[in-house]
Amino acid sequence: MALLEIRDVVKRFGDFTAVNHVSLSVEAGEFFTLLGPSGCGKTTLLRMLAGFEQPDSGELLLDGKSLNGVPPEKRPVHTVFQSYALFPHMTVQQNVAFPLKMAGVAPDQIKARVAEVLEDVRLQQFATRMPSELSGGQRQRVAIARALVNRPRVLLLDEPLSALDAKLREQMQLELINLQKEVGITFIYVTHDQGEALALSHRIAVMSQGQVEQLDAPENIYSYPKSRFVADFIGQCNLLDATIRSVSAERMQIEIEGVGTLDTLPVAGATVGQKGTLALRPEKIKLGASVATGNADEVHFKGKVHDCLYLGDVTVYIVELENGMLIETMLPNAAPGRARFFDDNDQVELAWRFDAGHFVLA
Ligand code: ATP
Repeated sequence: MALLEIRDVVKRFGDFTAVNHVSLSVEAGEFFTLLGPSGCGKTTLLRMLAGFEQPDSGELLLDGKSLNGVPPEKRPVHTVFQSYALFPHMTVQQNVAFPLKMAGVAPDQIKARVAEVLEDVRLQQFATRMPSELSGGQRQRVAIARALVNRPRVLLLDEPLSALDAKLREQMQLELINLQKEVGITFIYVTHDQGEALALSHRIAVMSQGQVEQLDAPENIYSYPKSRFVADFIGQCNLLDATIRSVSAERMQIEIEGVGTLDTLPVAGATVGQKGTLALRPEKIKLGASVATGNADEVHFKGKVHDCLYLGDVTVYIVELENGMLIETMLPNAAPGRARFFDDNDQVELAWRFDAGHFVLA
């Protein structure tokens, strides 16, 4: 049985439906992420799990038992907010001890448990500091320690890293992965940052307009997006409008307007004449001065460099095909002493294998 089950949940605010018939389940020990653009309903879903909001219809179950009507303090679920919400007049130790004190736990047990959880988040040496004497990342860890101290079944994290700078965010991401592995508690994480979701999660639910568009492992979400929205929202992607011309078990032939007819992998439910999108990631495209191999499994185009974006480790090249279509590609800047391979207006060639892209029907 799943640890947590969300069954056909709807939440409205007046006429507006913030969460629209969402069903999903989360397994014990999972790092599960709700990902989507601002306003898609992910925080509202999290607040219903915490008990701060009640669903208008549908049911939330933990261990098979309904959470409907159970007040927040009676749920074995804790939330870590972006704002940390630490008590400024209490030390780290006192902040972390607070939930245990409220629960009437004996002082010697509190001491032992606080020491244990501060060790989990590597803050032992900061126990007597005030929150104002800590960095943003350390405050975040105190907030996590406080949420973990009375061993919840589920930890809800609402954009916990969004206030941190990029470098610290990456460091905290690694810490969160390790912490979750160590403590083994189910994490439900809310973010609008797709890179963060890909890096942290066992599974991701991509949300749009109150609904789950796709629920899958990060690799599948990235490589096999189910909709144009998911392909576009997750990472960089060329989205080429196309019409299906033929379908067989191994191949599908599609016509891309202005480009021509080419092969791609078939997808379930595809029929001749149907329109869709070929989602093609920049790193799946070969780029060079001359990349034609004559291999029948590859398509091949000539073009010229329209723009270059030097990003340090890679350079993004926007290539204009002879018909005017722009295709985004990239190359790693791995060669020693070579900052980039091409400049604006350089003549180049592109090639990709028939199985490089993923055809999206929706
Ligand atoms: P963000 O990343 O910006 O926090 P989100 O995906 O978490 O966005 P929610 O906070 O769940 O989105 O909000 C979903 C929609 O419901 C938004 O349009 C929001 O304005 C609306 N909403 C949320 N809470 C309320 C409320 N208490 N009253 C009215 N509308 C609300």
